[in-house]
Amino acid sequence: MKHEISNELYDRAVNLMPGGVNSPVRAFGSVGMKPLFIDRAKGSKIYDADENEYIDYVCSWGPCILGHAHPKIINAVKDACDKGLTYGAPTEKEVLLTGMIREIMPSMEMMRLVNSGTEAVMSAIRAARGYTGRDMIVKFKGCYHGHSDGLLVKAGSAALTSAVPDSDGVPKSYTDNTLIALYNDENSVRELFDKYGDNIACVIVEPVAANMGVVPPKKGFLEFLRKITEKYDSVLIFDEVITGFRLGLGGAQEYFNIKPDMTTLGKIVGGGMPMAAYGGRKEIMECVSPVGKVYQAGTLSGNPIAVTAGIAALNVLIENTHIYDEIAAKAEKIADALRKTGAYVNQIGSLLSGFFTEREVVDYDSAVSSDTVKYAEFFKYILEKGIYIAPSQYEAMFVSSAHTDEDIDKTCEIIKNFAAR
Ligand SMILES: *Cc1c(COP(=O)(O)O)cnc(C)c1O
Repeated sequence: MKHEISNELYDRAVNLMPGGVNSPVRAFGSVGMKPLFIDRAKGSKIYDADENEYIDYVCSWGPCILGHAHPKIINAVKDACDKGLTYGAPTEKEVLLTGMIREIMPSMEMMRLVNSGTEAVMSAIRAARGYTGRDMIVKFKGCYHGHSDGLLVKAGSAALTSAVPDSDGVPKSYTDNTLIALYNDENSVRELFDKYGDNIACVIVEPVAANMGVVPPKKGFLEFLRKITEKYDSVLIFDEVITGFRLGLGGAQEYFNIKPDMTTLGKIVGGGMPMAAYGGRKEIMECVSPVGKVYQAGTLSGNPIAVTAGIAALNVLIENTHIYDEIAAKAEKIADALRKTGAYVNQIGSLLSGFFTEREVVDYDSAVSSDTVKYAEFFKYILEKGIYIAPSQYEAMFVSSAHTDEDIDKTCEIIKNFAAR
């Protein structure tokens, strides 16, 4: 397999963008090779600049649950483009999309459309603080909620891989109000509430952690968060940027039957375009400007092209909810193959991760006990055979409805060959 053109592009890119990329994990830093530059993608396949074909399990880090370039989304976007790319004024489609989202997730009584998951989370927390009049927030070690200042404390994803849990450039005072609890550890949360309960505005959690690799919640953990936040009148925020429309149409809140006060969405909701949303109980969202005094705005928020892509994607999902069982069954097959490599595997729905560790992976500390050198070896082996997974131990594998049975069989065989070699 040749990577000549990718390597050439990288050599140019690295002088133009830090690491040659626009988001750190793309730089392939933790697998010790130059990144692949992508030319195009269709269905389950992605093609690099050297014309190599791969079965893609990155799926743009989650959005592409229907595979790449789904014709219904592409055609809708093409039509929408003829009417102009942005107006900075309300449109009928925003009413349609937010109505669809509320139908799917009734806990989102009111919402705002924004441009990225980072922005959604940042804004949701501001609303929770405005609503409660409190400053402190609780987040979990290893959960990732975007790159806003106050949340870059024991973040997940690339912040984990590059072993810089805290970012330079964030004043200490910005994270003073961020309290860190341990995922799946009720006591760590209880201790924070015992101490600071009356000043905790919100608890934010990935209901299925997927940015330290996939780590599902232990039985009762989310129920516990629901109860303790109710007891202290704190806002419970489910960051469903990955799990929304992924774990099932109604996301983790439907899957586990727990109603959060607020929800953040991203990735799938934009159908592959940059869009995200935050919302929740009406009385909280009515704190947002111009109704209330929590300021939040956006020049391109609710962009008509992104909204069009989101509507098209959600419509396909609404009409084809059978895909959820199908992609989960496919993920299960891959999980079984991964176990043959000796990895500890977490799989829930179409999300999975194989951790090269002897330990059971239930939280941040057990996740980082993984042998990342072995992961890099695994990554390179299967990449060379045409399987594209995240270039980092601490990201999920995403299965899409475009993955065929042949794709899955081929993937499993290559994984088993790695195990047997
Ligand atoms: C990806 C992600 C974000 C950040 O979204 P961006 O669109 O990358 O800013 C926030 N929360 C979770 C759970 C995510 O997976």
